[in-house]
Parts: sequence; C-alpha cells; structure tokens
Amino acid sequence: MIAGLLDLCFPPLCELCQTSLDKGHSLCRDCANGLQRIEEPYCQKCGEGFAGQITGEFSCPNCSNITLDFDFARSPLKAAGPSRELVHALKYRSRFYLSDELAAFFVELMETDSRLHNLPESTVVTPVPLHWWRQQMRQGNQAHELAKAFCRRSGLRLLPALKRIRRTETQTQLTRKQRLSNLRDAFAIHKKELDNLKGTTVILIDDVFTTGSTAHECARLLKKEAAVDRVIALTLLRG
Ligand SMILES: [Zn+2]
Ligand SMILES: [Zn+2]
Repeated sequence: MIAGLLDLCFPPLCELCQTSLDKGHSLCRDCANGLQRIEEPYCQKCGEGFAGQITGEFSCPNCSNITLDFDFARSPLKAAGPSRELVHALKYRSRFYLSDELAAFFVELMETDSRLHNLPESTVVTPVPLHWWRQQMRQGNQAHELAKAFCRRSGLRLLPALKRIRRTETQTQLTRKQRLSNLRDAFAIHKKELDNLKGTTVILIDDVFTTGSTAHECARLLKKEAAVDRVIALTLLRG
C-alpha cells in the first residue's frame, strides 16, 4: 500500500526523457521505440550490422579468418547515445530495475531472428559472470540481472553456471588478440552444474559485445569442459 501511495505521489519516470510512467515501467514507449535496432543485413556469426543491400546469409570480414567458439551472436540494439546511457546506468549506477525493460529487447529479438525460434527444451540462460570483487563494487552483476529478467519474460530457465576465477585487466585498451589472451583461464564452470549443462543449448547473456572475446572464451569453456552442444551469445548492445 505504501508503495502504491508512493507511486501516486512520485510516479516512475522514464530513464531517458523523465516523463511520468505507469507503475512498473522505467522507459517510455517513444524512447524504447527510438532506440536503434540492428536489423538485416547483419553478419550471421557476430551479428554486426551492415549498411546497404546484401542478400542472403553472409559472414563479415572480421569473422572469416578467426575461430569463434560460439555458434552465433546477436544484439538487439546499436550502441548509440541513449542505449549506452541506459547500459551505463544499469552497470555503473546499479539501476538494476532497468533490467526488466531492457530484457524486453531480447524478447523482441527472439521474435525477429528465426534462428531463435523453436529452441530445444533443454535450452538454458547463463549470464557472463563478474569477478566477486567487481560484483561487490557494483553491488551486483548487470549481466545476471539482465539474464534473470529475460528468463522471467521468456520462460527460459536460468542457469548461472559460470564463475570468474581471475580478475582481468580492463579490456578497453586492448587489441582483439590481446583480449583473447587476457581472458585465458579467467572463467570456470561451477562443478555442480557440469551434468546439467551436458548436451544443452546455452544462451549466454551479457550487456555489450565488442570484439566477441568474452563470448568466445565462455563458449570454448562450456563446450570443452561441459559438453555443451551450442552457445548463442546475446548482448544488449553491439559496441
Ligand atoms: Zn522517454
Ligand atoms: Zn562477423
């Protein structure tokens, strides 16, 4: 009741334009519709969008000469001003209530990309973990919050099977090759989940896809150590 009264006196505001919203929302319809989607044509491997007319399936030059152990990656949104602002608020200002509205973009993607239709019964959703220290500092893990909200909306099963066992240098200044070696042995699988992962399709959830090195390293580990069948990397933004 108190929460109801508070909503009446202080209705929730849109995170981007501050118009007042109905209870349970954090983004207005106009702002949500205004965020730039990544639509066809896009690389079938890494999900990078390309301008112009490309018909049929294709892989981009970045993907053609390297091994990426995930099956494919997709992001619903381009990393642009407002979408970056939202992820920044989620990630660095602990505004985890945004995850519910942001997870809706994953559901939208599931409807538009036919490779995400008819997923096997055994499909699980696994967030990319943070090192416990960083998680303490941020009071939570944005990828975990997104994964939880995505499961609530999609009915898929959450399986937080990965942990980060090594703190890594921040990746932003590194080249693609340096990123890959920077992440070697950074992750491990919770032993109790090994049997639960065998033969499954894993949807790996993270906030931003930049070079794909995180998704690759997690996929490599899941396939090698836990005999996971397929890994699909979904990130909210494409950097
Ligand atoms: Zn708005
Ligand atoms: Zn690509």
